[in-house]
Amino acid sequence: MAARPRLDSPRLSSARWTNNNNSSIILRPSTALLGFPVSQLRITEIFHSLQGETATMGLPTVFVRLTGCPLRCQYCDTAYAFSGGTQMAIDEILTDVARYSPRYVTVTGGEPLAQLGCITLLARLCDLGYSVSLETSGAVDVSDVDARVVKVMDLKTPGSGESHRNLYANIEHLGAEDQVKFVICDRGDYEWARMKLDEYDLCPRVAEVLFSPSYDQLEARELAEWVLEDRLRVRVQIQLHKLLWGDERGR
Ligand code: SF4
Repeated sequence: MAARPRLDSPRLSSARWTNNNNSSIILRPSTALLGFPVSQLRITEIFHSLQGETATMGLPTVFVRLTGCPLRCQYCDTAYAFSGGTQMAIDEILTDVARYSPRYVTVTGGEPLAQLGCITLLARLCDLGYSVSLETSGAVDVSDVDARVVKVMDLKTPGSGESHRNLYANIEHLGAEDQVKFVICDRGDYEWARMKLDEYDLCPRVAEVLFSPSYDQLEARELAEWVLEDRLRVRVQIQLHKLLWGDERGR
């Protein structure tokens, strides 16, 4: 078992924490902790589309994309969410979401948990009866996330350039409804992900382990062949929204 990461603070109430390598992660000023009340969030976009990934792929979903991310994955396709956005009260966000009368709501980013108000937003969405999921990088503490939320948590592979940010203590907070995602850039990433499956006994722990080929970097077919050869109990997924709409924003 890998050494557990050490948190300087048990909650995301500080701008600094440490990871497994004892290197500090500091939230960028554009993401959070700017003194906004937790009833306010910085939002890049709210839109209605089909879920492109995860166990609910293909289902109509409202996406709430929060602004800001402390990571810089080399394959990131939402760099437009790193900065800018509009400051909104949580009540305003809920009103926007309700316009679509959705069953499913996904809170995404950026890294949504980089903003303190995200925890409140998630709980309020659950209170309203939506099926809520959270897409998170795996680099920020998830322990305060409402238990009704399905967490879809990345473990960043070496190919992302951000694997040193993985906060492995988060795995303890994943339950039977949650999902873990690996974005695989090459064979080295695939072997690394296999190792993590064993190391953390991930397949029995969560509802789904997702293997996604990094867009334009690894052929989905090649990844599929590797998974079948090794008889892995994971779901190989291709981003449906990119098949349908390419890189079009808000889709
Ligand atoms: S964590 Fe997500 S939003 Fe942040 S840089 Fe990586 S891919 Fe982009």
